[in-house]
Amino acid sequence: MATQQDVVTRANFDEVILPIYAPAEFIPVKGKGSRVWDQQGKEYVDFAGGIAVTALGHCHPALVETLKTQGETLWHISNVFTNEPALRLARKLIDATFAERVVFMNSGTEANETAFKLARFYASTRHSPYKTKIIAFHNAFHGRSLFTVTVGGQPKYSDGFGPKPADIIHVPFNDLHAVKAVMDDHTCAVVVEPIQGEGGVTAATPAFLQGLRELCDQHNALLVFDEVQCGMGRSGDLFAYMHYGVTPDILTSAKALGGGFPISAMLTTNEIASVFHAGSHGSTYGGNPLACAVAGTAFDIINTPEVLNGVNAKRQLFVKHLQLIGEKYQLFSEIRGMGLLIGAELTAPFKGRARDFLYAAADAGVMVLNAGPDVMRFAPSLVIGEQDIDEGMRRFASAVEKVVNG
Ligand SMILES: *Cc1c(COP(=O)(O)O)cnc(C)c1O
Repeated sequence: MATQQDVVTRANFDEVILPIYAPAEFIPVKGKGSRVWDQQGKEYVDFAGGIAVTALGHCHPALVETLKTQGETLWHISNVFTNEPALRLARKLIDATFAERVVFMNSGTEANETAFKLARFYASTRHSPYKTKIIAFHNAFHGRSLFTVTVGGQPKYSDGFGPKPADIIHVPFNDLHAVKAVMDDHTCAVVVEPIQGEGGVTAATPAFLQGLRELCDQHNALLVFDEVQCGMGRSGDLFAYMHYGVTPDILTSAKALGGGFPISAMLTTNEIASVFHAGSHGSTYGGNPLACAVAGTAFDIINTPEVLNGVNAKRQLFVKHLQLIGEKYQLFSEIRGMGLLIGAELTAPFKGRARDFLYAAADAGVMVLNAGPDVMRFAPSLVIGEQDIDEGMRRFASAVEKVVNG
């Protein structure tokens, strides 16, 4: 009989897992704070954070404690019943944001699917069945279901799966004139990441988001902020919309929300939520007590001045290191993003080689990310220590040197 102790190797991946990922050659087995160890005991500094997810590092003692306690109390009850951790977490999110209503799902995709369905439903209920147009942006990413991947719009992710949901249109990001040109009374929603993550770590300009707000108001369209990646403290504010002072009608959160435990949320107002009724949408797991308890503890820690104010100090240290490395090797044409969502665009000679740097970094003992072929991305824990940053950057610099010098 197979046991949990059976030896598994990276080679097994190619035999048993659907070939949709190309994971690194090593297998991480343990994490603590911003350090991770693989099967061979090699140690890594984690600047990737599980793709902007482990916002409090690995195995944060308070999260572990909550997981253990709730794990011995109640894991799952379904939405035939409500549960205390979900009600507490909803209250926290409402108290801290524009929102009056919350629904929990299990992934960013599902939160966005909920948001887009709600936007369409709201428009058809309150206005007209023909008010279905969704405006989204080039280089956006909103998830992998057929609806969300179509709103994301990148052909490499959305082609080949048959007919797509209709009436979704894409225009250049940060280009208000382009939005004006396609905006009309048939538009039900404008969907935007305040800071594009997967698409290259590009922050919206304040004028762009303000302009979107005004256009949506003029045309009775809903403004949907996908804060799956840029929310929950990553920008230095609890949500990026707070930094911009532009309030959306619907906001989605996931990734850091559970600190590594799968959970997502969609936030909105009473008025918009009121078009839905029992049965309009749902999820078996969504809002389960285990996920909501862990997210509640993560929220209490992230939504403090200590953590949020620390984000920009840590960003400065990251940027300082990246500038030094960039200057030494003429590597980066721009360092951008906000808070601890940092993008460094490769200069012309290194375009297309982000994955090479990522693999070399892992060899040197530091986990980093890319955002497309031309941008290095850093999304570490919001509570990463200075020593971890310095050591990780020392390792990243040695990886860069190896790639640059062949
Ligand atoms: C990661 C991401 C998603 C998708 O989230 P999943 O949990 O992978 O479904 C959606 N939107 C943005 C902005 C993301 O970064």
